[in-house]
Amino acid sequence: MDTEALTAIDKRHLWHPFTPMRVWLDEQPLIIAAAEGNELIDTDGRRYLDGVSSLWCNVHGHRHPAIDAAIRAQLDRVAHSTLLGLASVPSIELAGKLAFVAPPGLTKVFYSDSGSTAVEIALKIAFQAHQLRGTKRTKFLVLDNAYHGDTIGSVSLGGIDLFHQIFQPLLFNTVRLQPTIEALEAAFSEHGADAAALVVEPLIQGAAGMLVQPVGFLARARSLCDTHGVLLICDEVATGFGRTGTLFACEQEGVTPDLMCVAKGISGGYLPLAATLATDALFDTFLGAPAERLTFFHGHTYTGNPLACAAALASLALFEDGSLMNRVRSNAAHLGNRLEKLGTLPRVREIRRRGLMVGIELHPAEGRRLGLEVCRAVRDKGVILRPLGDVIVLMPPLSFGPVELDRLVEVVHEAIDEVCP
Ligand code: PLP
Repeated sequence: MDTEALTAIDKRHLWHPFTPMRVWLDEQPLIIAAAEGNELIDTDGRRYLDGVSSLWCNVHGHRHPAIDAAIRAQLDRVAHSTLLGLASVPSIELAGKLAFVAPPGLTKVFYSDSGSTAVEIALKIAFQAHQLRGTKRTKFLVLDNAYHGDTIGSVSLGGIDLFHQIFQPLLFNTVRLQPTIEALEAAFSEHGADAAALVVEPLIQGAAGMLVQPVGFLARARSLCDTHGVLLICDEVATGFGRTGTLFACEQEGVTPDLMCVAKGISGGYLPLAATLATDALFDTFLGAPAERLTFFHGHTYTGNPLACAAALASLALFEDGSLMNRVRSNAAHLGNRLEKLGTLPRVREIRRRGLMVGIELHPAEGRRLGLEVCRAVRDKGVILRPLGDVIVLMPPLSFGPVELDRLVEVVHEAIDEVCP
């Protein structure tokens, strides 16, 4: 089918996520037909650097031979079988690998299919654990401007008005706090005795606009949770699998949460897969005879899908000898240097970064959507980016080298010069 025919069907039938469809219908969609390495290729053969890792999930580039081969090999065995009452080879192998690479103490793996479900599961496990233990706590502490996904539970934890406000009547209440150590301590003084869990994105809040937490925040959160009997849930959906310079962001503060949510990069960005990792102590709370009603009654049809688990195993294998993360750290330092000049532009308010996760915040301009305009301009120069309001997000795959990082920064620089008043 040619671009024109595809466009017609798209406009007639496809409802795009997080997309003002009135605007979409008036524009020419960019339709991706293929990819190679760090580039996406459209239906007319034009190539674009994938500057946001296809929404923060691609890790090693597209069509990586090892991941492609792992999926093909799995396809020759079985594409899907359920984890409800059965086990499957790749889901078992992956659970073992995840427990091995996760912060020590996270030994149990509960699979699902998206970041939202990974968070939904964490909050349900936390809630049920308190019910089963007799503490009966129901209150969740969350960070201001949090984003943890789009299911009703994860939206309840969220604090981005544009996305979440309309659903207010359907949501449960939470206690919101600023990501500062003082606010954390104040929140625990007031709510520590009856909070079920604290939910945080460790080190950097992605969808909030790449908001960086002060050093020591996560470690302090861990110690306050321990003191007050509050569970710590770390949402590593965005930060996991190397983006911040370590495999998991929690590692940088030596923290093991009680529950850790991973998705996006877990399958190398190939297939929908997520996992909620838990400690033995939490898992043991749910052990008992069926009549004791301790079971965690949650599960999705495609939970632990073998193709996705095979992709995840192949992706994790690429981290194994440590050389990839060494490269990521030196590339991230290189990116940091290249961004310094950009930070001096009058239109740039602030640049925030952890590893390869970057937010370039522009000064707002009345009546303009500058983030969007800059991302449109970079597209014309062969780069795909997606903004968060006035924040231009850079989140390249770990496979970007210095040359591609330089091009990314140069193109953004040119676009800011062109677009911003
Ligand atoms: N949690 C965080 C930190 C995220 O950044 C996202 C998505 O951007 C989610 C959860 C939701 O993940 P998904 O879109 O896979 O449901």
